[in-house]
Amino acid sequence: MKEIFSDPDYTRVGYFESVLKEAGIRCYIQNAYSHNLLTGIPSHLFFPKLCIIDDEDYQAALDLLNPLYEKEIPGAVQRADWACPNCQESVPGEFDQCWKCDTIRLGDQAT
Ligand SMILES: [Zn+2]
Repeated sequence: MKEIFSDPDYTRVGYFESVLKEAGIRCYIQNAYSHNLLTGIPSHLFFPKLCIIDDEDYQAALDLLNPLYEKEIPGAVQRADWACPNCQESVPGEFDQCWKCDTIRLGDQAT
């Protein structure tokens, strides 16, 4: 299981979940109800989280959701993709960990 997306806006998380399910990727939302109980108290701990059940689906899910991030979150800070020093895989800028080998990002590396 891997968390792929977290947002205070449950509608958006639910939308991304439906996108993945349509593509046949098994996923579920954590904290689906706790946020409603805590309306007005923005705590990252209680944001609804979209989680991928099968780790091998993670990259496919990213490929599906990344274009949507740009549409859905126009104000999001765009970070450059980075190259993993361990496996040389290209990792989207918003991740601080390599999706493939879990290497932690070290500083800002130009790609
Ligand atoms: Zn890697």
